[in-house]
Amino acid sequence: QHYLERIARLDPGLNSYITVAANAALAAADAADARLDAGDAGPLTGIPIAHKDIFCTNGIRTSCGSRMLDNFIAPYDATVVERLGAAGAVVLGKTNMDEFAMGSSNETSFYGPVRNPWDQTRVPGGSSGGSAAAVAGRLCAAATGTDTGGSIRQPAAFCGITGIKPTYGRCSRWGMIAFASSLDQAGAMARSAEDAAALLGAMAGFDSRDSTSVDRAVPDYGAELGGDIRGLKIGLPKEYFGEGLDAGVAASVQQAIDHYRRLGASVHDISLPNASLSVPVYYVVAPAECSSNLARFDGVRFGHRCAEPRDLEDLYKRSRAEGFGAEVQRRIMIGTYALSAGYYDAYYLKAQQIRHLISDDFRRAFEQVDVIMGPTAPTTAFALGAKTDDPVAMYLNDIYTIATNLAGLPGLSLPVEPVAGLPVGLQIIGNYFDEGRLLNVAHALQ
Ligand code: GLN
Repeated sequence: QHYLERIARLDPGLNSYITVAANAALAAADAADARLDAGDAGPLTGIPIAHKDIFCTNGIRTSCGSRMLDNFIAPYDATVVERLGAAGAVVLGKTNMDEFAMGSSNETSFYGPVRNPWDQTRVPGGSSGGSAAAVAGRLCAAATGTDTGGSIRQPAAFCGITGIKPTYGRCSRWGMIAFASSLDQAGAMARSAEDAAALLGAMAGFDSRDSTSVDRAVPDYGAELGGDIRGLKIGLPKEYFGEGLDAGVAASVQQAIDHYRRLGASVHDISLPNASLSVPVYYVVAPAECSSNLARFDGVRFGHRCAEPRDLEDLYKRSRAEGFGAEVQRRIMIGTYALSAGYYDAYYLKAQQIRHLISDDFRRAFEQVDVIMGPTAPTTAFALGAKTDDPVAMYLNDIYTIATNLAGLPGLSLPVEPVAGLPVGLQIIGNYFDEGRLLNVAHALQ
């Protein structure tokens, strides 16, 4: 009731929710009370959370921020939704997002932009901007997000919360609407590393319905939070502190790193020589996979269908032209081009090869250090509309987050000293399946 009341009062300003499921939430809260009374509480019993609107929820609309799915009600729950439900979480509703998770500012949503709770003239980041704003604005206790190129970490940084994208394969992608399948990963967005640990622990784990899910035990992340980081080796990649990084953000990140030094960590200069190739590689791989994944939205089986089609081709064309927004159409065109005969070798294949070089950079770095630190984003939250006419400027905001997705590594953003009243995120990148360490390192500063 507390959160529903805050949503009713404050969300008209933030627009962080696409759908509020008030009745279902109140019923689930009653069921949680009953479980508590029966002494049968799960780890999250009664905790009110929100799901990014990319996760299928049985009986509650799943729009993916698109007109294409404005009328779509999934007949099943995504694995992540199912697991959090089994752990006892109460779902308040579905959060706003960039259309099909394509964007860095939440301005491509069919449902309008989300506003940053710290300054409503600014963006919350994206694509999980609704989840980030809802957590920061205290319109839910925690939320799910997805991260294909930074979509958990960058909005977490812009909104001053903690967000973790685990290792590729850690959380099931079943029932999570696909954008770029080799990069997409679900994760947790919360007020603290401790809360994120509780959420991630309940979300993660093997699922035979996702062929890329990894069968590996999930540690008790919460129990591992001791905060002792003595002896930790921190690598600072020189490529993450160069041109384009805002001076205030750099100073705030440096201050946090100094703090870790005082807590007993050692700091080492490292290099990720292929880092500058991650944005161009991503913008071949991600659109290629998106053009394939989004072929299913054809107006025939589900989603938007145009009125009075003349024939099948007209049905496809107009349903897709009407259902998809400009950024989604741009990605489909780039991806279709990159995959077409004659261009495949020059673009897609080349991008996959460079992707290996980027992974190798990290492999070598983790032979020297335990974690890599740097800024999550080059700037603090920018003004609404500031980058909407310049897709490349928008794409460059993900310059520090994208490489981890290309390599499949876990990454976390935690809030450090704000600059001019706006949150700043410190990014911590870990080795494969080292989520527990990332959460512990973040916890040490909180
Ligand atoms: N901003 C990036 C993009 O637009 C990443 C989005 C994401 O992680 N879903 O593709």
